[in-house]
Amino acid sequence: MKKISRRVFNSTFGLGLGLMVTKPKACFSEVKKGKKLGIALVGLGTYSEYELAPSLQETDYCYLAGIVTGTPKKEKIWADKYKIPKENIYNYDNFDAIATNDAIDIVYVVLPNAMHAEFCIRAAKAGKHVICEKPMAVSVQECDDIIDACKTAGVKLSVGYRLHSEPYTQEIMRLVREKTYGAVRYVSADAAYFSRTDPDQWRLNKALSGGGALMNMGVYAIQSAIYGTGQNPISVTAQEFSTRPEYFKDTDETITAQFEFPNGAIGNIFTSHNTNINRLFTSFDKGWVELNPANNYGPLSGRTSDGKELKYPHERQQKLQMDDFSKHILKGTPNIVPGEMGKRDMIIVAAIYQSIKEGGKKIVLDLGSMGIL
Ligand code: NAD
Repeated sequence: MKKISRRVFNSTFGLGLGLMVTKPKACFSEVKKGKKLGIALVGLGTYSEYELAPSLQETDYCYLAGIVTGTPKKEKIWADKYKIPKENIYNYDNFDAIATNDAIDIVYVVLPNAMHAEFCIRAAKAGKHVICEKPMAVSVQECDDIIDACKTAGVKLSVGYRLHSEPYTQEIMRLVREKTYGAVRYVSADAAYFSRTDPDQWRLNKALSGGGALMNMGVYAIQSAIYGTGQNPISVTAQEFSTRPEYFKDTDETITAQFEFPNGAIGNIFTSHNTNINRLFTSFDKGWVELNPANNYGPLSGRTSDGKELKYPHERQQKLQMDDFSKHILKGTPNIVPGEMGKRDMIIVAAIYQSIKEGGKKIVLDLGSMGIL
């Protein structure tokens, strides 16, 4: 089992955050007029290497300007591959010096979940805009801490929910919003993959992940249920299932949960590290829509009850996502995935775990006032 580092421990329990606050950049869009924003990736694991860095070769409004890594040998590999200048390369200890580096506008935190809060807060204090990977953090309190740090520093904050920038998902949102098939009655959202090879990975270590399938793929199922109905749930009831306790020693293997929505619609979500499934199905008064797959890197695939096949040209979802956030910074377009959305989902995650702990009790949710969908 991988040991949790002192830094992770400190950040998880709210220490080590008393770092220098630098002045946020004034007139940001003026400064960057006509230029691409520089992104620094923090954590050069699988997602950064195979999705974010390649996507940043295709982005129109931002580019890969810097890296932050705890693995010295990755510095040269990445510097050579992506022509990253030495002065834009940091490690976890000297990361705060990024505050004085004008080439970096956005810090994208792509570390194990329990490290998100520490690095997002340090990035905000360095005066950088922040993208935080999903799940936003390992507790609602940490989400609040990140949101507060960004507000205090006057920087923008987004969460790595790439599907909001993706055309199949956007079409589902439109069909729901415009009530093309009438009122929503039922949504079913499944997000799961089979984990078989590495019982010591951080995703199965609660101190680093905050939880198992629910914290990993489960947030996608929660997201799907919400944009598949266009509403935030008002209650949740949940169950946990375990068939391989010897592999999933520390984290949840399979979770199902049922939501009630304000208009009376019912939702069912399924998430697991023990099977492969990736689907969103919404039933309306006058038809249905389905995405299958619904949340992989695409291209997604969709159909409706009246025989329409959804078909869009494929672009990397992460390219679209990072460009959307950059446009928000540069041009003032809406921030389609604000930090509050990540916090909303952590409130739901916490309610699901609470329901399971209390034997499947119905937990009432009050998310309406958040104004986030
Ligand atoms: P990964 O295991 O491939 O990479 C993790 C990185 O963190 C590695 O570079 C590792 O060296 C570094 N690290 C630093 N301290 C560590 C520690 N104590 N233990 C383990 N690793 C440590 O993980 P990943 O798949 O790249 O995921 C990183 C983040 O990105 C997670 O929050 C994950 O949920 C998120 N993610 C999001 C998507 C998406 O679709 N939006 C997809 C994959 C991952």
